[in-house]
Amino acid sequence: MSIVSCPSCSQRISSLADTCPHCGFSKTGVSIEPEVLQARQLRKLRYRARMLTYLGMLITLCGFLVWWFQQTGFNGLPGQVSQLLIGVGVVGYLAARVWLFMLSSRLKKL
Ligand SMILES: [Zn+2]
Repeated sequence: MSIVSCPSCSQRISSLADTCPHCGFSKTGVSIEPEVLQARQLRKLRYRARMLTYLGMLITLCGFLVWWFQQTGFNGLPGQVSQLLIGVGVVGYLAARVWLFMLSSRLKKL
């Protein structure tokens, strides 16, 4: 087995692969259905969107932790760093949720 470059998209693929995992190009002449390929790409994007929601939650959590350690409890107002972290985290999380929702509904239509 060796690594060759795909004649269609020139990404590196295994010489044993019948179809290119990147673009669906087929050496045997039977190419993957465009719907299948699209679903695969959507699933990949959905995975990224899901990771983004986790990242947003993590950043929000960091913001609360900074708040906690700066004020020794949630007594005082959050400092600028925690405000920024919580703001970015919440916005990022919500944006990722919307993206995730759009990807899921597009996947259902396929
Ligand atoms: Zn390819």
